[in-house]
Parts: sequence; structure tokens; C-alpha cells
Amino acid sequence: MSDEHILSYDEAVNEVAVHAAGLSPTQPPSRVPLAVAHQRVLAEDVRTPRALPPFDRATRDGFAVRAAEVDHALLVKGLLRAGQPGATTPLASREAVEIMTGAPMPPGADAVLMIEHTERIGERICAAEGRTLKAGDNVVPRGSEAAEGTVIVSAGVRLGAAQIAAAASCGLPDLLVFGRPNIAIFATGDELIEPGQPVLDYQIFNSNAYSLAEQVLDAGGEPQIHRTLSDNLAATEQAIASAQTKSNPADLLLFSGGVSMGKFDCVETALRNRGAEFFFTGVRIQPGKPLVFGALPPVGGNPVTGTPQYFFGLPGNPVSTLVTFSLFARLLIAALAGQRDYAVPFMSAALAEEVHSKPGLTRFLPAMVHHAIAGPTVRIVPWQGSGDLAALARSNAFLVIPPNREVFRAGEAMTVLLR
Ligand code: AMP
Ligand code: MG
Repeated sequence: MSDEHILSYDEAVNEVAVHAAGLSPTQPPSRVPLAVAHQRVLAEDVRTPRALPPFDRATRDGFAVRAAEVDHALLVKGLLRAGQPGATTPLASREAVEIMTGAPMPPGADAVLMIEHTERIGERICAAEGRTLKAGDNVVPRGSEAAEGTVIVSAGVRLGAAQIAAAASCGLPDLLVFGRPNIAIFATGDELIEPGQPVLDYQIFNSNAYSLAEQVLDAGGEPQIHRTLSDNLAATEQAIASAQTKSNPADLLLFSGGVSMGKFDCVETALRNRGAEFFFTGVRIQPGKPLVFGALPPVGGNPVTGTPQYFFGLPGNPVSTLVTFSLFARLLIAALAGQRDYAVPFMSAALAEEVHSKPGLTRFLPAMVHHAIAGPTVRIVPWQGSGDLAALARSNAFLVIPPNREVFRAGEAMTVLLR
């Protein structure tokens, strides 16, 4: 191929990251109820209108006291519990108030003596033998988690259980989230047939459209699966042209297949004929070497200042498609979705058994990570190469093999890409 531009893994990721950094969310934000905000990207900072906690809160069942007095017998007066107004009269000297977890502290008290650490003497209590108490023990002061008006979840964060609960805890019923970017998915290949259709011996079921749609959803995008493209230049160009001119154009185009050196691989040529610029046309990784990244001219906008329409030509082998999406396309979708806290999920795990590799390419081998408190371990899943979806389905990660070494010993700390 003429204009070949092959990068290392690091160079290619950096290239995608540079473009991602220049992108803003494409779809307008909308307000959604907390119950459906899961995995959406927050479009504005969430500030708490109320101090957290809203009052000095007891964190243990026991007695609200003055910590300095617990060596003495304290007279117990009254009971405070969660869900009732707090005491208004201050605690008198040598007195205690029985208090339950979550109740507001009475004025004058500065600590809670835990029920388990208390000795009873008739109507009075004191600290049990050997127990001491400091001012502030077992109390969370008003506003110590967040003062009124503080940002508790920042714009650009992907919402999980903790962030949604934090918004609920300051009384917000809904959140402003970015719209999901439209991601067009084009599978290519004359051999492809849809699952559910009658199949001939030489035909292959289209699986990439479905793995990609799933990955796009998971990345915060809205997948649009297009009709499978035949290995035909004119048809491919036409499909690209329609994606360039539609009234609601895709924010990113994903092609699977048709980007290798085969005689009928025409995706790259079709893109070039439609005015594409290529940032790279291959990466020194396995699987996934023929990966292509580039941009078409902006749709309907100013060709100089408008946002280009990015695309990835992902290699068609199903394992390659899935791993190149995770390593590269995912980054760009996070940016289009407005997510600022995305990082490719690498972790470290101890190699369960020795691995041999040929140097030259960064490899991503289907692997099983066993998560254990003692530390995760990783083992390669036997596979037949980048078409082996059955092996992929038996794995939960990719073991990353760096390009510059041949032997990796059992017990070595290795990088793993989680899925
Ligand atoms: P290609 O990248 O087009 O040369 O395809 C490489 C291999 O991946 C071939 O064996 C294809 O049959 C297979 N392949 C391509 N696209 C898909 C797809 N959408 N689903 C499943 N397999 C595919
Ligand atoms: Mg093909």
C-alpha cells in the first residue's frame, strides 16, 4: 500500500489521545432522573445545596457526653434518635443523653461513648474500665464531608453508584447529562451473513457488528448498526458519502474488516476517495496490526474550523476488532461523550505460568485474570489466533506482552487489559 504510516502502540495511542483532547461532547445535554442516570456522563458540576452531614451526627449507639467527664458517673437524661428533631437544651455538666446512630448531637456534648464501652451505675453511666474518650470521637461534624455549595461530583465524570448516591444525598432528584454520541458501525465483507439467516458453508456470521454495538454502548455511545457493506469500492464510497451528508451525521464511523492488504480490501481507498486524512494506517500490535485511524472533512460545517468526522478502520478478525476498539476507539468515544475521567483499564497481575513470545510487536493475548485479595494472577487462555471468539468468550482480559522481550517467568508482574 502506498501511504503507509505504521506506529508503535504508544505512538498510536498518543495520536488518538491528541485528537480526543480537542473534542467536545457532540450531543446536547438533558436532565434525567437519578434512576436512569447510571453510566451517563455528568454535564455540569453537582454542588450540594445543604451541608453534609446537615447536623453534628452521632456515628455510634451510646451516650452523648462531654469527653472530659467520662471518668465520672454521668446522669442519663433522655434519648435522641434518628428522624427526630435534635435537643435544644444544652447538656448540663455531669450529664449524658442516650443517643442512637444517625441522631443529631445535643448542644454541649462533644463525643459519643459507645454502648459497648459503657458501665452502668443505676441511672448513671461512665466509661468502662480502661476506656478513654476524646472530644470528637464518634461524631461527624456538620459540613465536614462537604460544606454548602461545594462541588461533590464534577462535570465530565461517568456516573456510577457512588456518584448517583452522592447526588441523592444532597437532595437532587435529577442530573444534567450529556447526550450519547452517535457511532456508526459498518461491517464489511462478502462472506458475512446475519445471525438467524440460513448460512452456506463458505459464509461467516457477522459477529463484529454486535461486539462493537455492545462496546459502543458500554463506552457511553449510541450504536447505529448499518447494512453490511460488500467488498466493493463504489458501494463502500456510497455508504461513506451517506454517512457524511445525513441530517443527523454520525460522530464517529467504525468499519470492521477490509483494511488489510487483500485484493478486495477497499475501505481505506474508499475513505481516501471521500477526502479522508489518515493519522496512521497500522500499529505494531498483535492482534490488530492493520488498524487505521483518520478523519473525513466536517459534515456541513466549515472545513477549517469544523469538527472532522473521525473514523477507525478496525481489522475484521473478531478478536482484533474487539481489542483495537478497547485500546483506541474507546478513548475517542469517551471524549465525544464528554467523559474526562476515562483511562484504558490496565492493571498489574502476577503471571501464573511462563510465557514465551517473539519480540517486535506489543501483544494482547486473551487471558483469564483471577482476582484474589492476595493479588490478581493471570494465565493465557489457549487460542487459535485472532479469529477465535470461543477463546475470547472464555477469557476476561488481555495479557499485554511488551515488544522487547522473549521470556516471561511465572510470578512476574505483567500488565493486563481488563474488559
Ligand atoms: P478482513 O479484515 O476483512 O480481511 O477480515 C479478516 C477475517 O475476519 C476474515 O476471516 C473475515 O471473514 C473475518 N471477519 C470480517 N468481518 C467480520 C465480521 N463482521 N464478523 C465476523 N468475522 C468477520
Ligand atoms: Mg474482509
